[in-house]
Amino acid sequence: MNQNFKTMVTRLGSHNPTSLSVPENIPITMSSVFAFDDVESLNKVYNGDAEGFIYSRMTNPVHEALKEVMFSIDEGEDALVFSSGMAAITSTLITHLHSGDHVLASHVLYGETYEFLKYQLKKFNIDVTFVDFSNDNWEQYFTPKTKLVYTETISNPMMAVDNLTEIANIAHDYHAKLVVDNTFATPIVCQPLNLGADIVVYSATKYLCGHGDVTGGIVVSNKETISAIDKVGTLYGGCISPFDAWILIRSLKTLELRMREHSNNALKLADFFEGHPKINKVYYPGLQSSPSFNPASSFFNNELYGGMLSVDLKGNDESYRTFIDNLEGIKFVPSLADVKTSVCSPAITSHRNLSDNELKQAGISKGLIRISTGLENIDDLISEFDKVLNLI
Ligand SMILES: *Cc1c(COP(=O)(O)O)cnc(C)c1O
Repeated sequence: MNQNFKTMVTRLGSHNPTSLSVPENIPITMSSVFAFDDVESLNKVYNGDAEGFIYSRMTNPVHEALKEVMFSIDEGEDALVFSSGMAAITSTLITHLHSGDHVLASHVLYGETYEFLKYQLKKFNIDVTFVDFSNDNWEQYFTPKTKLVYTETISNPMMAVDNLTEIANIAHDYHAKLVVDNTFATPIVCQPLNLGADIVVYSATKYLCGHGDVTGGIVVSNKETISAIDKVGTLYGGCISPFDAWILIRSLKTLELRMREHSNNALKLADFFEGHPKINKVYYPGLQSSPSFNPASSFFNNELYGGMLSVDLKGNDESYRTFIDNLEGIKFVPSLADVKTSVCSPAITSHRNLSDNELKQAGISKGLIRISTGLENIDDLISEFDKVLNLI
């Protein structure tokens, strides 16, 4: 093998042919870095005087395309994309908080968000007070140091919906920003920025992807806030691969169709469970009997309530095991939002690290089963659930 071959292979294969037609879909730009013809071009791009890319941890053409889709469907001004929901959430929090600051957060949150707020922020001398936005007189907990209020559109796993407009107004009275995790709802069901939220965060791993094959995170807000989070996020380095960003763009094309079907199936399942003799209680904001129905129906879009519901089984402490172990087509999965229906037991998965007292406070019993409703035929789902319920 001669030297010429070695030189050749390093230089070939990156040529972009000029053509009268362009790809119908955005190409996956699998390049960690971008080359410049001369010094002046690099200076222009660094200074923001010309369009161009530098290094994919900062941004990449596929990231930009995904951002455009997300801020458009969420009606924000700009967006950021990350390698996971937790990267999006932690970058957002770290950007806005300094030593001595205070946060007001919902007492029921995604398990790892709760852990980050409760244990990691402590290291930076940041205090967090956990409150029940629907039932506490929570205004009393604001201090002059309260910078952020943090909640989820549909809480996990109790599927509670708080009045976001009211929370946003109160937060703003105290000059705090409202951050909303809109993972369970997606922009199809709810657009928190239109209700007064300042920042919306997502685990794109869930419905935005919807097929269980990508881990990702998104933040949507105004230009100024996004620029601030971008500077910090780049340092923490949670950048998504161009390939995964591309998959997300493809997934988002069917988001509306999927959310409609997830929601329609979930409402039918909730109705079925509500009338079932082996069920104590059903948690789904789309049920008229739910305390969340009023706030949800006043600001959710298209009369859709999402694909997530929880049910409290009758019987004893082992009922959840009988239920899960006897399902056949429906799998036990410690995540959600796939095209396939799945079940999980929050007490032994997402909320496993909570003490018995914390579980009780959050209303999470051993018999609580969380269901991520998929896109299957609803009669098949009902008949499989009915079969295992009759074993309890
Ligand atoms: C999954 C999830 C997260 C965390 O996202 P990852 O992509 O797993 O990092 C945050 N919030 C909610 C509501 C989630 O369901």
